[in-house]
Amino acid sequence: MLPLQILWDWLIQQSLLRSPFFPVLFSLTVYLSCCFPYVCLDLLSSRLTQVHRFKIQPQSKVTWTMAYSCLRKIVHNHVCFIFPASLVHWYFRPVFYPPLAPEMLSVVKDILACLLLFDMQYFLWHLLHHKVSWLYNVFHKEHHFYTAAFSMMTEDTSIWEMLSLSFFTTLNPALLGCHPLTEMLFYVTNMYLSVEAHSGYEFPWSPHRLVPFGLYGGARHHDLHHLKFRVNYAPYFTHWDRLFGTLKKHFFL
Ligand SMILES: [Zn+2]
Ligand SMILES: [Zn+2]
Repeated sequence: MLPLQILWDWLIQQSLLRSPFFPVLFSLTVYLSCCFPYVCLDLLSSRLTQVHRFKIQPQSKVTWTMAYSCLRKIVHNHVCFIFPASLVHWYFRPVFYPPLAPEMLSVVKDILACLLLFDMQYFLWHLLHHKVSWLYNVFHKEHHFYTAAFSMMTEDTSIWEMLSLSFFTTLNPALLGCHPLTEMLFYVTNMYLSVEAHSGYEFPWSPHRLVPFGLYGGARHHDLHHLKFRVNYAPYFTHWDRLFGTLKKHFFL
């Protein structure tokens, strides 16, 4: 039997999948799991030069207070806003779980299409929230509290920004008619890439080093956005910033 079918057969037997608590628990678990390795690196980087040399802004330091204040806000936003929103969604649009898992190739194609759509939506949302000063001050400024990115600040945003991003993440698989398993895998991929973009580390195996022709921006690209502020608005890929003349590749220029 195919690995995706084995995974899907196991998943649909879990009663938690049908619970109204599932979306919020899934969201928090995926987020914290993606952040965990980078939080460990932050702890090690002040002691180990082998880790410290991969930091994009070597002078920056992540403290427990910073990480804890982000965690507190993220849990609060999930409990007070994401949970009620997902409850409404669960009640009015119950998910149908088909018995067959999707094909691997269609999963890959759908995830890539969802990522490209999300990249465009967030680029436009982000550009607008930097160009219109009251939108910036009211809705996006909270995410710019730190000028050097670190993993736990990925979802350290205003509630409007968090709900907008959750809306795009939910909308795209629905628009493309994705299988529920593809939707979950897109969610995990999207979250990992978002945390990676905020990690503050650049490794030889980082996604932007693996994707050819500079098509992917990743951690360096987004760290520069937090430092220089009016550049690199797209979360992942570079084509929208290239097209709008807002792409910046180097810290010293
Ligand atoms: Zn911004
Ligand atoms: Zn950011």
